[in-house]
Amino acid sequence: MYKLIVKVEFSAAHFLRSYKGKPEEIHGHNYVLEVHIKSENLNDEEITYDFLEVKEFLKSLIPDRKFLNELYNFNPTCENLARYFYKEIKKKYPNLEKVVVWETKNFAIEYWE
Ligand SMILES: [Zn+2]
Repeated sequence: MYKLIVKVEFSAAHFLRSYKGKPEEIHGHNYVLEVHIKSENLNDEEITYDFLEVKEFLKSLIPDRKFLNELYNFNPTCENLARYFYKEIKKKYPNLEKVVVWETKNFAIEYWE
């Protein structure tokens, strides 16, 4: 079994709708979206997936320089972002194993099903 791991970075603003009982102040993060896609076989070029194709797809998905609370109809916690990205990526890459959304360099959420 092989696994392709791709990371893309994006910067975005958000606030949590309720944190310790009240909405947070708006602030930003430099997020990293890390994607793990399994592959049992290699293609004719002896690779799993075209890394650049995966990267381009992820770039079309990430909300770079966006205000997440306006962009999405869900509360933009790291958990909800991870589930959202998982669902979207799974449609194109059914062998998706998990996504990891890093909100800071020390804090991340993994989501898989
Ligand atoms: Zn935050």
